[in-house]
This record gives sequence, structure tokens and C-alpha cells, in this order.
Amino acid sequence: MKKLVIASNNTGKIKEIKKILDGLSLEVVSLKDENIDIDVIEDGDTFEENARKKAQEICNFLLSKGEDNFIVLSDDSGLEVEYLNGEPGVYSARYAGNHGDDKKNNEKLLEKLRGVSKENRNARFVCQLALIDNNNIYNKVTGYVEGYILENISGKGGFGYDPLFFYPPLNKSFGEATSEEKNLISHRGVALKKLKDIIKEYL
Ligand code: IMP
Repeated sequence: MKKLVIASNNTGKIKEIKKILDGLSLEVVSLKDENIDIDVIEDGDTFEENARKKAQEICNFLLSKGEDNFIVLSDDSGLEVEYLNGEPGVYSARYAGNHGDDKKNNEKLLEKLRGVSKENRNARFVCQLALIDNNNIYNKVTGYVEGYILENISGKGGFGYDPLFFYPPLNKSFGEATSEEKNLISHRGVALKKLKDIIKEYL
């Protein structure tokens, strides 16, 4: 069976991706599942540059090991706040300094938006997916979801900025939504749905 390797160490993302791709006749594995200890430096200026770089480095590694029946999937994603001219953007994971410190990142965002009215707190999540197969064929898709930033944390679900991201059609934050609710409409859910059609051509 063809293997789909998720080029990420973010457990929140991996969980969502595995759930959404469940049911395809593919062995979906993470870097950890494969004992691959590579931390790709995300130094691109765009989500696409970072997503492609992550996928390419893992692809090169698998090819160097002689693997020949795989697809690498990487996800570079983040939050863009209109009032902050697109911040935190590509810096979403390390907005407050340390990579992956969700609590500090949320605190920094709240601080930056202190006193800003609800009308000016519009934001969107962006998910850029890169797919590179063992023949070095590259495919990409993007997904978005729009909402606004709350004034306080709400909910314990999800990861990252989820407890601060209010999604009006559900009338709740992503932190309050179930994973099923979030996956149906999220930036990642939307992008993975598009990507599924590309993946199906391999099967
Ligand atoms: P990446 O690993 O560089 O793509 O970082 C993505 C960062 O964007 C995460 O660490 C989160 O802070 C944020 N992010 C991306 N997707 C989501 C999501 O679905 N919910 C909440 N935060 C997210």
C-alpha cells in the first residue's frame, strides 16, 4: 500500500489530517511513526514556500533511504488578522518567541488587539498544503476559513489559536467546536477535501 507521510511534528495538525484522510486506501503516517527526526527550518516568506520546503526535505530523505512508493504531505498554516495587516501570518507558531507556545501566542495576540472593537477583529485561518511524491511531482492547495478574534479565551478543544477564533456560522469558537464540526469547515478541512481528489488519482 502506498504510504502518505505527514511532514509535521504538530500533534494537533496530525490528528486532524489523519481523521480527514481516514478511509482512503493509504497508510497515513507521521514523522514520529516513521522515526524520522528532522525539524525543517521554516524560513520562507510565505505559507507556500514553507509547505513546499518541508515536503521536499522529507521527500529527499525518503528517496535517500531507497523508498519508492510514497507521497509526502506538508501543511503550513496560520492565522491572519486584518487589523494587524496579516499578522501573525507565517510567524503564527512562534508569534511570542518560542515555537509552538500556544498560550503565550494567544496572550500576545490578545494584547495586540486590546481595545480594538469587534468590527475590527476579523481574521482568517490559512492552510497551505504541499504534496510531493516519490517522482518529485509537486501539487498544492489552499484552504481558508473566516471569523473574528474574541476578547477572551473560550473553549478547551483544538489547538493553537482555536479558543480565540470565533466562527459565526457555528456561533462558537473553534475551541468550543467538536473536531467533527471544525473539520467540516476549517481551512485544513477545506484544503484536504481539495487534496483528496489529487490523492485519489494515485490510488
Ligand atoms: P506551522 O507549523 O508553522 O504551520 O504553524 C502553524 C501555527 O498556526 C500553529 O502553531 C498555530 O499557532 C496556528 N494554526 C494553524 N492551524 C491552526 C488551527 O487549525 N487552529 C489553531 N491554530 C492554528
